[in-house]
Amino acid sequence: MTRIAAAFAVALACPLTLAQEKNPGYTNTPVLPDGFRVHDAFRPRPPVVDPGPAPAQPAAPPKDAVVLFDGTNLDAWQGRKGEAKWKLVDGGAMEVSRTGDIRTKAEFGDCQLHLEWMAPPPKGHSQGRGNSGVFFFGRYEVQVLDSFENPTYADGQAAAIYGQKPPYVNVTRPPGQWNVYDIVFVAPRFTEDGALQSPARLTVVHNGVVVQLDEELLGPTSHKSLPKYRPHGPKGPIKLQDHGNPMRFRNIWVRPLTLERPKAPSEPK
Ligand code: MG
Repeated sequence: MTRIAAAFAVALACPLTLAQEKNPGYTNTPVLPDGFRVHDAFRPRPPVVDPGPAPAQPAAPPKDAVVLFDGTNLDAWQGRKGEAKWKLVDGGAMEVSRTGDIRTKAEFGDCQLHLEWMAPPPKGHSQGRGNSGVFFFGRYEVQVLDSFENPTYADGQAAAIYGQKPPYVNVTRPPGQWNVYDIVFVAPRFTEDGALQSPARLTVVHNGVVVQLDEELLGPTSHKSLPKYRPHGPKGPIKLQDHGNPMRFRNIWVRPLTLERPKAPSEPK
């Protein structure tokens, strides 16, 4: 049997394969370049992988990191208007407190970000359960969501590039346990007249597992619509989302990246 004939045979044998996997999601949103709709109800959910137990204590940041939160204060952060008002809680953590998103006072371009997050006891479902997010430049989101036994659309689950790309696998730990994100973000570049020169790129390691690898972003995060780049400067704040759920964060640090190596001398030695 040729490969095409085999594919037809499979398709005829199980015409409802995708339909059987319907998630909470949408069937009438615009189509992404990969052929799935934004928040597609029929996009297969990534396989679940158990990442093993959470670290008992957060690991110390590297010495050249900019510490954004070490459990003692919110000095590196601000709210939309003035002070960041999220709560400091036990365990060196801060908790979303329905006072709005917070963002770093400092701005970053290409960077490596480490953060740890924990979902509260399960309440609600899909996007209504344990939702937050980390946004580079305040606009490019890696989703934070309680995706432990909580079906949602694949491009909206934990470690998704929200509305664009699901993670390869789902390694979300249960509520009450710490999840660890290590993210490498390469900022988009724009020409002087504002055209896109190179898109943003992201790598995400979730609980020690690669779940996004040098993925190109289609634009800033949008909901139920196709993203579209708008030019901006070389740096921007890192934002954490208040989606109304009491999510916790701890041990947040960032390393600005210089993605250049020294040039070789003109005469090799
Ligand atoms: Mg979110």
